[in-house]
Amino acid sequence: MQYNSTRDNSICVDAAQAIKTGLSAEGGLFVPKSMPKVTLEEIDSLKDKTYNERAYFVLSKFLTDFTEEELWNCINNAYTKAKFETNAIAPVYELDNTNYILELWHGPTCAFKDMALQILPYLLTTSMKKTDESNEVVILVATSGDTGKAALEGFRDVNGTRIIVFYPDNGVSEIQKRQMVTQEGNNVSVAAVKGNFDDAQNGVKKIFTDNEYKELLNRNGFSLSSANSINWGRLVPQIVYYFSAYADLIKGGKITCGDRINVVVPTGNFGNILASYYAMKMGLPIAKFICASNENNVLTDFIKTGTYDKNRDFHTTISPSMDILISSNLERFLYDLTGNNDAQVKEWMNELNTTGKYSVTPDVFNKLSDLFYGGFSDDNETMAAIKSVADEYDYVMDTHTAVAKSVYDKYVEETGDTTKTVIASTASPFKFNQSVLIALKDFDYVVGKDEFTMLDELSQIGNTPIPKSLAELRDRPVNFEIVCDKDEMRQIVSDFLAVD
Ligand SMILES: *Cc1c(COP(=O)(O)O)cnc(C)c1O
Repeated sequence: MQYNSTRDNSICVDAAQAIKTGLSAEGGLFVPKSMPKVTLEEIDSLKDKTYNERAYFVLSKFLTDFTEEELWNCINNAYTKAKFETNAIAPVYELDNTNYILELWHGPTCAFKDMALQILPYLLTTSMKKTDESNEVVILVATSGDTGKAALEGFRDVNGTRIIVFYPDNGVSEIQKRQMVTQEGNNVSVAAVKGNFDDAQNGVKKIFTDNEYKELLNRNGFSLSSANSINWGRLVPQIVYYFSAYADLIKGGKITCGDRINVVVPTGNFGNILASYYAMKMGLPIAKFICASNENNVLTDFIKTGTYDKNRDFHTTISPSMDILISSNLERFLYDLTGNNDAQVKEWMNELNTTGKYSVTPDVFNKLSDLFYGGFSDDNETMAAIKSVADEYDYVMDTHTAVAKSVYDKYVEETGDTTKTVIASTASPFKFNQSVLIALKDFDYVVGKDEFTMLDELSQIGNTPIPKSLAELRDRPVNFEIVCDKDEMRQIVSDFLAVD
């Protein structure tokens, strides 16, 4: 399987090269040259397989330059009962005979980014070896919260890698901060940057574009890389769980192989929902894609009108992982919808860069509207969804999942569609305990309560144990107390790697 760039079809690399490079040199994203096809018989046979076997089935179709042994090694290091607290890895919970919740948050950081970031380090180090790269990879991350911790957990103690995460001193929640400063592992470092997320991100960008510094690192045996969500190695593992959910529905007798289902995905960067679209292109019977946004509803408008326009106010919401105005993975979708028209995609991305907006052609808009429904939910509607699902089903959702459920309910009301539907659940309710408690009780209820009290209370109300990784935070020693100015970040990297 070869990969092209969305902005230049003449670029053609294998999977290892695509994963090692991350972003194509001219700014495009790597996409498979053609979609591998699977048959209904193959899909049916997945019902009796483990998650790891299902992962092998899907990944082996895309990473054809990896040996069988290399691929199994990546998969078996990533998806273990020890890390996910369940053999199912991504279990499906039945709310009723139409609504099925695909729980993607059983990993070590309690959010769905673990599904990709647990395997990425192994895909990356294998890709380095395969491309004869002898340098050690140094992952630099600027984080506003979730990605930093998920990357730290993914890369910790992975041979041939080091990771440094910078977070804004006063820009992450108390629990997110604790998750990071108590990080364990012999190849990790964490530093707070005085300033906001933009300061941390700009500091990281500056290091990435400092050629002289990169040369110095290179002489010392280090190559910089990012764990960015546009890397093909982060997208491809996400295709797996849509097949897995479908196989579980067959296995449970809920559907017959070949029946079409709908999927609902709470969306930010468009990675997760794109993975479900790729699954459909491979042959998974999906009828409708319901793209759920919060008040940052740039995708809702795009799906309704065909115009993407990021020139709008940015809203801080109770589903912060979806507070995004540029959905980078949309580029891969447009490339597919235009029939791999690299020049067209490049033009739209240039327009987005210069004017902040672009409009797709009527042909692309028609294809899009046939398959996708876009909707959004404001914070009040999201809270109401948490409360009503808890009351009706005794099931507690996090705020991101609740955005999906709320938008799905609107879709059903508008269309009367009764197709069985998989709702992607992207975080554990414990991770956003304060907002969830306010939804279940009221605002006064949380006043003056610290994070750990709220975890305990949510555990009692929802009658579920606190995930191990969050419960343990209480007693974990703090390992990182570095606080730096934004112009000291390069020095922090040098100190950690002992170069200069
Ligand atoms: C990252 C994230 C999302 C958005 O996923 P995309 O792939 O960026 O669309 C949704 N929910 C949670 C909890 C996340 O961490």
